[in-house]
Amino acid sequence: LTWWLDEASAAGRVNWWAHSLVILTFLAVIPSSKHFHLVLSPFTVMLKSLELGTVPNLDFEKEEVGLETVKDLGRKIVLDALTCVECGRCQVNCPAWGAGKALNPKAVVLQTQEALLAGQKDRKLAEIYSEEVLWQCTTCGACEQQCPVGIEHLPLIIGSRRGLVSNGEAPGYLAATYNNLERRANIWGLPSDQRQKFITSAGLETFDPQKHDVLVWLGCAGGYEADFQRSLRSLFDVLRLKQVRFGVLAKERCTGDPAKRTGNEYLYQELATANVEQLKAVAPRTILTSCPHCLKTLGSDYRLVGYQTEVVHSSVFVEKLTRDTVARERPGETVTYHDPCYLGRYAGRVDEPRALLERLGATVREPARTRDNPYCCGAGGGLFFADKEEEHGARISDIRLKQLRETGSGTIVTACPFCSIMLKGAQASALAGSESAGAGDVQIVDLMTFVGGRLAKT
Ligand code: SF4
Ligand code: SF4
Repeated sequence: LTWWLDEASAAGRVNWWAHSLVILTFLAVIPSSKHFHLVLSPFTVMLKSLELGTVPNLDFEKEEVGLETVKDLGRKIVLDALTCVECGRCQVNCPAWGAGKALNPKAVVLQTQEALLAGQKDRKLAEIYSEEVLWQCTTCGACEQQCPVGIEHLPLIIGSRRGLVSNGEAPGYLAATYNNLERRANIWGLPSDQRQKFITSAGLETFDPQKHDVLVWLGCAGGYEADFQRSLRSLFDVLRLKQVRFGVLAKERCTGDPAKRTGNEYLYQELATANVEQLKAVAPRTILTSCPHCLKTLGSDYRLVGYQTEVVHSSVFVEKLTRDTVARERPGETVTYHDPCYLGRYAGRVDEPRALLERLGATVREPARTRDNPYCCGAGGGLFFADKEEEHGARISDIRLKQLRETGSGTIVTACPFCSIMLKGAQASALAGSESAGAGDVQIVDLMTFVGGRLAKT
């Protein structure tokens, strides 16, 4: 009809004014309506960090302590809060929300928006969201990854945790972890001679850049946890078989991942700086780790403290090493692979673990929530240390184990020491509780243990 109207006619002029009025009214309403995201979202997407879960370091010289009140929120967080289109994708993908917890990342963003629009500059963030909510985040990154308009939830959540930690308001279960990290530089609080015993019994050499191509980072799990040490022994066997020259650091501190994700920035920077000093002294070209949390911290977070080298997860390294390997016998074993959040979602390494499993004769089944959008095991963000306090059956790990068991495989393989511990914990609870039927028929195995066992047979 518009095309047929003569612009000079009365009907044409009415039509022109009607359209102009609608457009002008819409433009006037936009800033105070939820359609404001139409204007803001291109900027939010453009300003989104290049890497998932980027939380800038605090600058202690500027006396930064984290986020305590609304007026502490940085420009990007404010922009994020005003951009939310309320689609709910962060909410439905959040494992904490999925497990019936109080944390809802969409609500966190909208509550921030509400406080900003109400001008509540001095309102405490922990009061707005509640402390309970802030400590339920596993830092799995699903919310940020799924948000269509580039909103980053973790700088807000971890920033608020930093504010609490700086006021001595971290939850009780973290006190022991911080104490362990401060005294012994590992999460378990064990003396370093235990790590040394493992190094001696596994026949490991101290890394020497003239002699070795690869530095294997043991991490807190590799240095002290018996089950994961079995997996590392398999990795060492593969490396020796393929004549990779490798060594380990004589002394290693925790990378600081648990301190970083729980907002104890001072402790994180202390651990990171000491590790970086040691790494710079031996200058490895490649660091190999079997822990996805160490992968993220060494490979990505340490760049912000001035250290950069190639950091590779064992699944990626061994997949490349064994490309000429063909399983002689294909046992027809069916396995379900659980992607660790820090490997699948953060690092995007989803093909290599599967390629390895298939190369060694396994048929891989996929659970609900898989590849680069896995359902978390519940360990990240310091929740590993809170696990004992949670009600069994309703934990994130219980839900994940159920999803994995629903595939019907006899073996669940994962590639993170903390996923293994969480899933085994959930299995033990299932065996002790009402879900015991069939729970014991599934074995939970780390990828390198699986590879080591099968490679020996090829
Ligand atoms: S990082 Fe994971 S657990 Fe935390 S709010 Fe986002 S989706 Fe939920
Ligand atoms: S996914 Fe992003 S836009 Fe959608 S509700 Fe969550 S924060 Fe808002």
